[in-house]
Amino acid sequence: MTRSIQSVAVIGAGTMGAGIAAASAAAGCRVLILDMNIETAEAALQQVDEDARHLVTAGTVDADLAAVSGYDWVCEAIVEDLSIKRDLFSRLEEVRKDGSVISSNTSGIPLRQISEGMTQRFCSDVAITHFFNPVRVMRLFELVPGDDTDPEVISAFAQFGADRLGKGVVHAKDTVNFIGNRIGCFFMLSGLHLAKPFLAEGMNQETIDSVLAAPVGLPPTGLYGLIDLIGLDVMELVGKNLAVNLPEADLGHQYTNFPPTEQRMHDDGQLGRKAGGGFYRQTKSPDGERLKESFDLLDESWRPAEVPSLGGIPAELGEVIFQDSLEGELAWQVFGGTLRYAAGLIPEIADDVVNVDNAIRWGFNWVHGPFEMLDHLGPQRVIARIRSEGDQVPSMLEVLDRAGTDSFYRNEGTEYLGADGDYHAIEGSTS
Ligand code: NAD
Repeated sequence: MTRSIQSVAVIGAGTMGAGIAAASAAAGCRVLILDMNIETAEAALQQVDEDARHLVTAGTVDADLAAVSGYDWVCEAIVEDLSIKRDLFSRLEEVRKDGSVISSNTSGIPLRQISEGMTQRFCSDVAITHFFNPVRVMRLFELVPGDDTDPEVISAFAQFGADRLGKGVVHAKDTVNFIGNRIGCFFMLSGLHLAKPFLAEGMNQETIDSVLAAPVGLPPTGLYGLIDLIGLDVMELVGKNLAVNLPEADLGHQYTNFPPTEQRMHDDGQLGRKAGGGFYRQTKSPDGERLKESFDLLDESWRPAEVPSLGGIPAELGEVIFQDSLEGELAWQVFGGTLRYAAGLIPEIADDVVNVDNAIRWGFNWVHGPFEMLDHLGPQRVIARIRSEGDQVPSMLEVLDRAGTDSFYRNEGTEYLGADGDYHAIEGSTS
């Protein structure tokens, strides 16, 4: 059945629901936004552009659920709790119209757990539609089908996401944290652990953040600054979810718990920017001057932030990971480790390198996605380094090696190397 999305009913008017409603209204769609609390639903209207507000109706799940029948897409964005989501989906099934599509914005609950025991109609019409926060700003839109999802449903979401919302659509699989957060959270959680010996050697966290930023093509927040932005509370929950849902042999298992210092920070409510400070904080001196302070991770106390000097780092993007220095070793272990991790996740989390690269560029603002970065560095050079350290070469690098090639993309980026060892045209690119 061909599906067409012209109107959206969003359930849950918190951070994400309000953002999805505002983006859909800005795209000219009729929008219904429902929450448990009418105040929350009405507050979401404040995020809608004034000239689109006439398109949006706010209400409550208890009083207005039947109105969902007038909308093409029912998008669930309520609290991250499986049984509460399943209860809501059962109620929505009774009121949504035939031909409509339905989705969850969950960041971590597998679709198969949401769909288990649900009707055939639900299973064929449902997908995960995973937006990133803030919805209006972040380009990444991950789509995850279930085993029984009608391909037309995925096409309808992909078309709506790309054409109406202007998002970058990525096709992911029903695996824990999908693509962007699987790799992005590995970078953060492994980084906290792998950075410890460098701190012990006297490298401060400002330097660590600076190395794990522009020199390797990452945003200026680096490692600790990014966790401050996301929140230590969110990262702790992510770690717990990973501990339960990662495949048994996954490299990420060793990093799902915080190191002791970070756990103490978390337990003390030192959660990041939203809590007045995490690894960094802004304060004012007695004469009103703004001061940036860093939380010293060795003696666990605040001190004035230092400006790191990166004079010795090669100017060429990423080259630092091959530099014989403490900074080079840090970059190889943390950033290089994340590249190696990503290279081992195909076809588990995505069918191809293109979806992984797009997810990381659009969801985490890296200059290059992992495979694009490997191409920039020279994959064979990376393989040689891995072998020289006696480590196992991750699966996609093995594929590249066996194919006797030295790049994941060729023909001016119009073709990519598949997990089958052959090159394939990238959809939408002109060769
Ligand atoms: P939030 O806490 O800001 O908002 C949740 C809203 O749902 C609240 O307004 C609450 O009143 C409402 N709600 C709870 N139970 C309800 C019910 N049974 N019926 C109707 N409304 C109900 O949460 P959020 O950050 O917007 O997250 C929503 C979903 O999006 C979660 O599944 C989350 O994992 C996911 N997500 C969050 C982010 C993020 O960065 N915040 C990013 C991607 C995905």
